[in-house]
Amino acid sequence: MKNVSVIGAGTMGNGIAHVFAQSGFTVTLIDVNPSQLQRAMDTINKNLDRQLTKGTITEDQKKSTLANITTTSDVAIGVQSAELVVEAATENITLKLEIFKQIDLFAPSGCILATNTSSISITKIAATTKRPELVIGMHFMNPVPVMKLVEIINGYATKKEVTETIVALSKQLGKIPCTVNDYPGFIANRILMPMINEAIYSLFEGVAGVEEIDTVMKLGMAHPMGPLQLADFIGLDVCLSILRVLHEGFGNPKYAPCPLLVNMVTAGNLGAKSGEGFYVYTAGSKELVVSNSFK
Ligand code: NAD
Repeated sequence: MKNVSVIGAGTMGNGIAHVFAQSGFTVTLIDVNPSQLQRAMDTINKNLDRQLTKGTITEDQKKSTLANITTTSDVAIGVQSAELVVEAATENITLKLEIFKQIDLFAPSGCILATNTSSISITKIAATTKRPELVIGMHFMNPVPVMKLVEIINGYATKKEVTETIVALSKQLGKIPCTVNDYPGFIANRILMPMINEAIYSLFEGVAGVEEIDTVMKLGMAHPMGPLQLADFIGLDVCLSILRVLHEGFGNPKYAPCPLLVNMVTAGNLGAKSGEGFYVYTAGSKELVVSNSFK
């Protein structure tokens, strides 16, 4: 496999393009928004510079990584010679189904179609295509160039050979793959989101404050970051939408999102990206200023 197309050049898409290009693949990065493509290339450049400073890559590797990436806003052209497409567009089911219908139409017949979705059913996405056996989940973690895990999700119809190819490919990228089956939240978010929700419930019920909850989990469980700060980094809107997928998918009230989370998202307090969540951040950065006070 040589040619990979990545759809969506946001937070995850630029990281995915970066790791494939750095491993010698020819990457076409596709986004409907041309300014997002420029921003993604700037981010990749900056992240490569950081690797250069750390001494983990050479100047030549930086150059060849950048040379391996081309960009386009045209999906039809962008996937026409792909052997693998990794979709990392906005987490919206209607949008993803539309994108997969399009890719199915324009990508070569044997091309594997992967999605980086955090929570949408792989089986449902696969069912909109004429090649469900070639559709698979390839769930990278944020930040992609740093995080080792790739959660690989078998849809109901995914062929064994496709899973084997994606497992081998993930290893080739220097990642550690873990294969799971397609049920709501897969493994990562099925376990992470109820923990975050419980931390929010603990705050909501006045059991402890933001810093106390995060400190207990950091020092007591050796988590590198407390669950409330992690929720701010992921985005409270993203956490809410994943909890809704779990709640609806299992029909179990234990996944019901905490009313405080619902209120914060409704009020536009989405975490680091909006400047305020469980903590307050300096504008446009993830630098934590102070924990928010809740009554
Ligand atoms: P993002 O909002 O940063 O980027 C999404 C990009 O998709 C945007 O640049 C947007 O212009 C583009 N886009 C929208 N419609 C498109 C279309 N029709 N064709 C091409 N591009 C289109 O989102 P993100 O955080 O990078 O998330 C992308 C995917 O990765 C989602 O499915 C998300 O659930 C998943 N994910 C996110 C994280 C995370 O921490 N952010 C972690 C793991 C998985």
